[in-house]
Amino acid sequence: MIHFDQVSKRYEGGHEALSSVSLHIEKGEMVFLTGHSGAGKSTMLKLITRIEKPSSGQLRVNGQLLNRLRAYQVPHFRRHLGIVHQDHQLLMDQTVFDNVALPLIIAGEHPNDVTRRVRAALDKVGLLKREKYQPIQLSGGEQQRVGIARAVVKKPAILLADEPTGNLDPALSKDIMRLFAEFNRVGTTVLIASHDLGLIARLNYRVVSLQEGRLLTTPFSGAAS
Ligand code: ADP
Ligand code: ADP
Repeated sequence: MIHFDQVSKRYEGGHEALSSVSLHIEKGEMVFLTGHSGAGKSTMLKLITRIEKPSSGQLRVNGQLLNRLRAYQVPHFRRHLGIVHQDHQLLMDQTVFDNVALPLIIAGEHPNDVTRRVRAALDKVGLLKREKYQPIQLSGGEQQRVGIARAVVKKPAILLADEPTGNLDPALSKDIMRLFAEFNRVGTTVLIASHDLGLIARLNYRVVSLQEGRLLTTPFSGAAS
């Protein structure tokens, strides 16, 4: 589903943020990406979402060789990705419903489908009763769950998250990780960048670590054990 083959990334005027990274994530996996601040976690996510391009190496995501992807093909490619941000990036002057509906509206979905799918997504994150609220009326954990509903409303093949629990206390963080696990259980491939090692250690998923742009070779630590 996500295949990095000797991918390097050097930002303009910067040093090498990623050095010859090879990582294969199969369909249906849930993987944590860890590493200190500056290790290159966000850069890997930005390459997957095609916000940035590799300087060298091959990157294949959802069957697409990103090196060959043309600018006009990017929006279509991104439809298969759901992205959760640390600060949720909700529109604060819109209702919960409208925030979650946005990706479907942009994709030109029929209004009937929009309503049905937004409610289904809100139901999955336990916020059906909050659809008419503004984000400001919700707690931090609830806001993050709205962000997750918005990320999954198009049923993406791949769900990506960059420090999704960065602003939450441990109990809420656990709830958020449980939600990701639920989407993974129904087939979504999940990649979560997080430096919350304590939390990750207690979950039984594959963990890959970056150190100064290099992937540390760690044995597979998946749920199979
Ligand atoms: P992490 O997400 O693990 O904190 P990042 O991927 O954000 O790490 O950063 C990796 C390295 O790349 C850091 O040294 C950072 O300063 C550098 N970097 C990130 N974005 C840019 C950019 N747009 N321009 C130049 N350097 C950048
Ligand atoms: P459809 O009938 O369009 O296939 P469903 O009624 O099955 O949609 O699901 C509605 C909503 O449930 C989706 O828009 C999405 O928010 C959520 N959903 C269902 N399955 C998944 C999944 N595997 N991954 C992520 N979200 C999902």
